[in-house]
Amino acid sequence: MADHPLDADIRRRITLAGPMPVWQFMQLCLAHPEHGYYVTRDPLGRSGDFVTSPEISQMFGELIGLWAAQVWQQMGAPENIRLVELGPGRGTMMADALRAARVAPEFRKALVVHFVEISPAFQQRQKQILADVGVPVLWHRSFEEVPAGPLILLANEFLDAMPVHQAVKQINGWYERVVEIDGAGHFAFSLGPEPLPLFEQLVPRQLRDAPIGTIYEWRPDAFPLELARRVMREGGAGLIIDYGHVASGDGETLQATGRHTYADVLSTPGEVDLTAHVDFDALSRALETMGVSVHGPLDQGTFLRRLGIEKRAATLKSAIATPEKAKEVEAALARLTAADTTGMGRMFKVIAFSAPKLGVLPGFES
Ligand code: SAH
Repeated sequence: MADHPLDADIRRRITLAGPMPVWQFMQLCLAHPEHGYYVTRDPLGRSGDFVTSPEISQMFGELIGLWAAQVWQQMGAPENIRLVELGPGRGTMMADALRAARVAPEFRKALVVHFVEISPAFQQRQKQILADVGVPVLWHRSFEEVPAGPLILLANEFLDAMPVHQAVKQINGWYERVVEIDGAGHFAFSLGPEPLPLFEQLVPRQLRDAPIGTIYEWRPDAFPLELARRVMREGGAGLIIDYGHVASGDGETLQATGRHTYADVLSTPGEVDLTAHVDFDALSRALETMGVSVHGPLDQGTFLRRLGIEKRAATLKSAIATPEKAKEVEAALARLTAADTTGMGRMFKVIAFSAPKLGVLPGFES
């Protein structure tokens, strides 16, 4: 696929500068300003590469909207609130959330929506879907651009698209995993030239004696630290939903998906989605460093049930005339909450963080 512009660009960089960290490869594949996966296409929906919770059912966004309204109440109902969403995709979750929030008109009056989105195509879609919601919306390319002020932050399937570093254990330490061009001219995994300094002290305790070849993945803490710093300084809360693990561990979770099936991570850069699990343990440790209260992580199924998804499904079903539509609601409820492999109820986790004075957030009561 050397004729693909991103393939050619990555080759050029490696030829000129040497093997690149997996982290940078992932970053270019997803977010290269011209040829990145998210920049060039809409991968969502049934005919795309993957389906996310808000695309499965309106219930998801509606419950998140009511969650945000409740959090705003707990904040003391400030007159101005920034409702920030990271990576809103088609904007479906926000559209459903704002519709549900009609039951809280004071909240709707107080809010300005801030979308953080790198994809111009998605920005267009978001403009369309939110054209008539009656709430002002602003767009940014990064979270840092969101102006100061109290905020409620939402992110569904955003962090898994943030690039990961990988390190591989060797006899004399941990080496950064890199991408090189092999003898046959293909992209291939390799190791950085020397061990990462002081890395033994950074890996989780249970990995200190890990066998040779063990892979450890991590994301830089800078981003969660920035989110938490904003909430500490300006007030508010954040809700992060993604798939991942609750305990930091070893092993590779970086994977490629295209057209609903697994693909090779290296061979078609920019053509397939690359994701890696969110390490919720590392995430909550980073957030806590800044002094915010961390709530959860919880399974998505538990969280949605506590927010009342079963009742919402029953109401929807009774409002819908046809048996087929009622079956669709049933199927969506199962898909969003089931704990087995057919559902997203257990694989997906929910974590929240807030200014400490807010107390327990909805859904996280013990
Ligand atoms: N939250 C949506 C979409 C998830 S897909 C849903 O649940 O359906 C990931 C989203 O993050 C897309 O909108 C993608 O364009 C955006 N995105 C990916 N990397 C980004 C980055 N570095 N900065 C801002 N947005 C990004």
